[in-house]
Amino acid sequence: MASTTARLDLDGNTINPMTICMIGAGGFIGSHLCEKLMQETPHTVLAVDVYNDKIKHLLEPDSLPWAGRIQFHRLNIKNDSRLEGLIKCSDLTINLAAICTPADYNTRPLDTIYSNFIDALPVLKYCSENNKRLIHFSTCEVYGKTIGSYLPKDSPLRQDPAYYILKEDVSPCIFGSVEKQRWSYACAKQLIERLIYAEGAENGLEFTIVRPFNWIGPRMDFIPGIDGPSEGVPRVLACFSNNLLRREPLKLVDGGESQRTFVYIKDAIEAVLLMIENPGRASGHIFNVGNPNNEVTVRQLAEMMTKVYSKVSGEDSIETPTIDVSSKEFYGEGYDDSDKRIPDMTIINKQLGWNPKTSLWDLLESTLTYQHKTYAEAIKQAIAKPLAN
Ligand code: NAD
Ligand code: UDP
Repeated sequence: MASTTARLDLDGNTINPMTICMIGAGGFIGSHLCEKLMQETPHTVLAVDVYNDKIKHLLEPDSLPWAGRIQFHRLNIKNDSRLEGLIKCSDLTINLAAICTPADYNTRPLDTIYSNFIDALPVLKYCSENNKRLIHFSTCEVYGKTIGSYLPKDSPLRQDPAYYILKEDVSPCIFGSVEKQRWSYACAKQLIERLIYAEGAENGLEFTIVRPFNWIGPRMDFIPGIDGPSEGVPRVLACFSNNLLRREPLKLVDGGESQRTFVYIKDAIEAVLLMIENPGRASGHIFNVGNPNNEVTVRQLAEMMTKVYSKVSGEDSIETPTIDVSSKEFYGEGYDDSDKRIPDMTIINKQLGWNPKTSLWDLLESTLTYQHKTYAEAIKQAIAKPLAN
């Protein structure tokens, strides 16, 4: 519930209620951000998306304590003239809209590039022309591969953080060749970042760019065949959850050797709220938002998720919990991967004093409890159906 005492920013100033145009509010991150803004702040949200399933619980019934502070606008930003009006009557625009599942980058590269670059152009234009603040969601994937990945396997420099820690103001963006269409997403995100940065430098746009490093938690993506297409390939959390729910082996792409750092969505949302309410400290900055302490290989993630799921479901794990698949088989031609992603936290620490709190085990425990509660019964029924027919 929003507190009645005045909210103060990090410098002790009163935070006035604001109107936020949130594009992509119906997605994973948007749903958590809307929830936080409704429950803990007095701000108003104009929630823009083509779907609203993940925020339905915030929109209905009318008796909710925040009724009137959140309005859903079903529109596609590709081609809807209402967008400029919504941005004009807001104090801040947050753009989360994107195609952002790796299975799409090499199989639907045109849609990926249009979604992440072309469709973001009007948002940027309307913010710039109307002197409105913009928080734009980019990705850690703009870093691509680490410098260390190009060194010989036995090079001692691979152990030197200078060769793998990803720093906003220092690290280069290293993508594979053009025929590796995996990088269509990263490249589109990089170009929109550069455009936003240039609007700031040349036209005074007040902006913040967020680079999420594998945020995970409840409501991420979909479970194939239950609340998404049977043949769909979501991001790794939902892929592995789906395998665990169906008692199938978890598929390790190219041996599961890639490394990732995972941060709990609720920790990450705290960082976004600090950006929203501290414009003086957030504007003009690009922020890594991740948890450097939660690093695992994808294989280790699979092993940990198997153990955690066993604990929360009360079921023993299956005899062969993982199998190896090639990336070509799993994602198709043109897939490539980021080898390792550890965020440097200096800038977000200095500007906003933010630090992630939740360990990987704890965040998997609460997330897999949610997955089990939400999907186990539906999966049981889906599996039983063909047998009954
Ligand atoms: P998501 O797919 O759950 O949410 C994106 C939302 O945007 C969806 O609800 C979708 O319907 C909406 N959308 C897409 N195109 C639209 C359009 N043309 N008009 C209106 N709505 C549209 O993804 P997410 O995980 O919530 O990610 C949000 C942002 O953060 C994206 O920009 C993504 O690239 C970035 N990001 C997220 C992560 C992560 O860890 N979740 C990592 C890196 C980057
Ligand atoms: N991955 C995997 N099995 C799966 C799904 C994904 O091994 O069923 C791997 C994928 O190849 C990548 C990592 O898990 O190395 C993370 O994938 P995700 O889809 O979450 O996106 P990314 O972190 O690459 O943006």
